Amino acid sequence: MHFHILTLFPEMVMDGLGTSIIGRAVNHGLLTIDAVNIRDFAENKHNRVDDYTYGGGAGMLMQAGPVYGAYQSVAGKTEKKPRVIYLSPQGQTFSQSMAEEFAKEEELIFLCGHYEGIDERVLEEIVTDYVSIGDYVLTGGELPAMVMIDAISRLIPGVLHNDASAEFESFQDHLLEYPQYTRPEEWHGKKVPEILLSGHHLNVEKWRREQSVIRTAKRRPDLLAKAELTEKEKELAKKYCQPFLKMSQNN
Ligand code: SAM
Repeated sequence: MHFHILTLFPEMVMDGLGTSIIGRAVNHGLLTIDAVNIRDFAENKHNRVDDYTYGGGAGMLMQAGPVYGAYQSVAGKTEKKPRVIYLSPQGQTFSQSMAEEFAKEEELIFLCGHYEGIDERVLEEIVTDYVSIGDYVLTGGELPAMVMIDAISRLIPGVLHNDASAEFESFQDHLLEYPQYTRPEEWHGKKVPEILLSGHHLNVEKWRREQSVIRTAKRRPDLLAKAELTEKEKELAKKYCQPFLKMSQNN
């Protein structure tokens, strides 16, 4: 996978993504990340890439020309036109299923806005996906791009040491992950659930599945609408989740 980030702050994304698991994946050649400085494509001697908005209003807008230049410097070299993700609070909210879909691509371009955003005309011309990381407004698209790249990268085979740890996680089957414990067996008077020490694989799996259902019912009942539950699991969910109970009664 090749990630290209069009940004005014290359050092921010490269520093942020250069450490830990993602940094190691880059060093192992499992993925590449490059940041293109939009300012390098400024069309004036002062290297300015923003200007006032037509129609008035506070704040500056990034100009179309430099953004297009930065885009061309990447897209001009790829075989097929890569998907271009514009990080925007106006986009579709990022999710695990979107991460899974993006992980299938060979190249992805992330476009990070700043100030009041970017001139609409260049967005119309190059952007394929508008993605938000939540209903709040940040100062720039760099943190959202890093969030997305982190979530997508860990789905690429080999990036996590143990590939199984990417398989059984929250949002798999529309459930949250079960509680987990490590050593010591007792901490602050709290013991690790007996069943996890039993060595009985099947019972451990059963317990984990139940805990996932209970946890999801308590914390994210909205997810349960799409989860495939047995009759017994539905009963369990009802016990822990009032909104889900009402929803089931209405159906
Ligand atoms: N004026 C824009 C609006 O109201 O939709 C907001 C611009 S915001 C201050 C500057 C940049 O930050 C955006 O162009 C976008 O790239 C990024 N950004 C801000 N919030 C975001 C979010 N929730 N998700 C993704 N990107 C975001």
